[in-house]
Amino acid sequence: MAENKKLRTPIVCVMGHVDHGKTSLLDKIRGTAVVAGEAGAITQHIGATEVPIDIIVNKCGQPQLINKFIVPGLLFIDTPGHHAFTSLRSRGGALADLAIVIVDINEGFMPQTIESLQILKRFKTPFVVAANKIDRIPGWRTNPEKPFAESFKNQSENVQQLIDTRIYELVGELYKLGFNSERYDRVTDFQKNVGIVPISAATGEGVADILMILLGLAQKFLESNLRFDANNPGTGTVLEIKEEKGLGTTIDVILYDGTLKKGDTIVVGSLGNPIITKVRALLKPRPLTEIQTEEKFKSVNEVTAAIGVKIAAPSLEKALAGTAVRVAGSDNADEIAKEIKTELEQVTLPTGSTGVAIKADTIGSLEALVNELTKEEIPIRKAGVGDISHRDIVEVAAIEDPYYSVIIGFNVSMLPDAREKIQSSEIKVFMGNIIYRLIDDYKDWVKKQKEQSE
Ligand code: GDP
Repeated sequence: MAENKKLRTPIVCVMGHVDHGKTSLLDKIRGTAVVAGEAGAITQHIGATEVPIDIIVNKCGQPQLINKFIVPGLLFIDTPGHHAFTSLRSRGGALADLAIVIVDINEGFMPQTIESLQILKRFKTPFVVAANKIDRIPGWRTNPEKPFAESFKNQSENVQQLIDTRIYELVGELYKLGFNSERYDRVTDFQKNVGIVPISAATGEGVADILMILLGLAQKFLESNLRFDANNPGTGTVLEIKEEKGLGTTIDVILYDGTLKKGDTIVVGSLGNPIITKVRALLKPRPLTEIQTEEKFKSVNEVTAAIGVKIAAPSLEKALAGTAVRVAGSDNADEIAKEIKTELEQVTLPTGSTGVAIKADTIGSLEALVNELTKEEIPIRKAGVGDISHRDIVEVAAIEDPYYSVIIGFNVSMLPDAREKIQSSEIKVFMGNIIYRLIDDYKDWVKKQKEQSE
């Protein structure tokens, strides 16, 4: 394979209903990487786990496939859930390129399963469904070393029938949401059908099959998304802000384009003005085999996309998870800061020329609020991340429609100058930390206003 055809590592998110096995699956995948003892394998200290391609093909017992793949492996975001999927942004949209939707095969679809699938549909993200807890099917004979399709043949007729019944229930649910799907070993064209892989996050059965399918999806559907240029300035997303002993406040970042070096000036998203600072240290977690000592991390001079890395730098206390990290040149840091601020303020959400104004603390919670308002058919004129500001009040005060002269704030507070301004205006502000209650309060208020004007 020509060197210039190499793609960056695809970024994968695990989604699904609570207790259906997201964390267990991520643990198992991390275990795969760690047990194999490869130098590239990493531990859980960074917010993302890299599973190199050679580990995947060996695990699947098909080492000869290594030359077939042009992606270097898979990078899993360690935070599970659909909140992680929507909160963690790259400039083009969601940070994750691929997803696993996990569903308990014994319970079937639940509200968060459906929500996850709706999000993936909206972002057009390729995904695979993991039908988990297959070890709990009565009579299932487990064999973690074999792919599911082989194990299936060794089950009793009853068990085979039960599994097929359960899978067809999932196929039916997926169909209702607009997806054609099929048990993965019966899929001939992954462009037409979503693969359903029966797995056990407890025993590890089926996990290798999932990794293999994800690689296939990446190569087939994402080639253009996964091209990157190591000569570009590093561009990434903040996963988490963490205090580290001896390092102060650090940020865990997924770098998805370009190169990041020690000493680079970086611009990092925050609730106020973006932070401009200098990289003091770049740290990668040590593989488990190496971390017998206190030192969890090894310092590196540079990293290239896509990778999870910890950045130590001054002034990171106010960094905001889900926002951008970009390397600046000698004279464009302010310009980049302005761009990042605008990106945050104008999250691309379905806003119109009329409706309420909304503010929320993170991109993910803003999206959740937008979704609920849209379900209630309440139009939105403007949506933004951050506390309610003087400018927000001024803008809303200019709205003439009495029902939309409103700001709904989720998990935010009001800045002092906004508080002053509001006393001299007619606008109504709803604030709180439970979405449906905020919406009910707004609806009740509208109803009262209407009654009074009759
Ligand atoms: P999450 O809330 O989606 O992250 O779910 P967890 O990974 O925390 O799993 C919820 C519970 O189900 C835990 O008690 C797990 O041990 C259990 N569990 C997860 N996967 C499996 C599995 O494949 N088989 C069995 N028997 N239990 C599982």
